[in-house]
Amino acid sequence: MPELPEVEVTRLGIAPHIQGQELCAVKVLDGRLRWPVPRNLPKILPGQTVQSIQRRGKYLLLEMDTGHLLIHLGMTGTLRVLPSTDPLKLHDRVTFEFGKLSLRLHDPRKFGAVLWHPKVQGPIEKNTLLQKLGVEPFSPEFEGELGANILYQTSRKRSIAVKQFLLAGQAVVGVGNIYCSESLFAAGIHPAKAAGKLSKPQCARLANAVRLILNKAIAAGGSSLKDFVNSEGDPGHFMVQTKVYDRKDLPCKVCKTPIKQIVQGQRSTYFCPQCQKR
Ligand SMILES: [Zn+2]
Repeated sequence: MPELPEVEVTRLGIAPHIQGQELCAVKVLDGRLRWPVPRNLPKILPGQTVQSIQRRGKYLLLEMDTGHLLIHLGMTGTLRVLPSTDPLKLHDRVTFEFGKLSLRLHDPRKFGAVLWHPKVQGPIEKNTLLQKLGVEPFSPEFEGELGANILYQTSRKRSIAVKQFLLAGQAVVGVGNIYCSESLFAAGIHPAKAAGKLSKPQCARLANAVRLILNKAIAAGGSSLKDFVNSEGDPGHFMVQTKVYDRKDLPCKVCKTPIKQIVQGQRSTYFCPQCQKR
């Protein structure tokens, strides 16, 4: 599933090709995505220019002249820029035409989304899909002591395990399943510890770990940037070197203790019982 780093790499991959460009046509090949693609897009979007491409959580926000396109990659989606002469592929759902280039959403399982938020409806931050999201891990609000405070304040009186607290994204967005295990290992925190029992120093270590781990993942995806305009490439799926995730029974890279796997909320968690004592 594309996580925040993959979405950020997608943003970096497509932005140089479509930012500032005028959209000349939209074709909805199959609009039955997670939510129906608005039927009026092919009518209202042509002639509008892509002003900027931002990301909020796992939503890409393409600012157009009269509103924002919200694009989500769902479980299996990829978004790439191709020569418009490239033939459409099975599972291409929506294509945005920019003259010689097309931006295409390819989504086999159709859990992705393409939605429209007109400027007359107010600022994009107030969109119902975005307004309840936690803070961005790379925003100034999550830097240094502020990040530690956010984790500390939002976790008070919560008996939920810290892994699930982090995964829920209410404090900070973008820490998906892999990155939860990796961040907790980097911070030396047991994944089953009650969120409300985190100390201030643990919150500080965790906030740092989240930024570090996500940054590394984005950097790992940097090598796939060229694939966003390459018909052969497979953008959006890149391997990260994990320390604990998917390493059950393998020796911890720090202390050689075998890595343990547990299930929390039907998702696998990996940790080192030595480096992450309860
Ligand atoms: Zn260890």
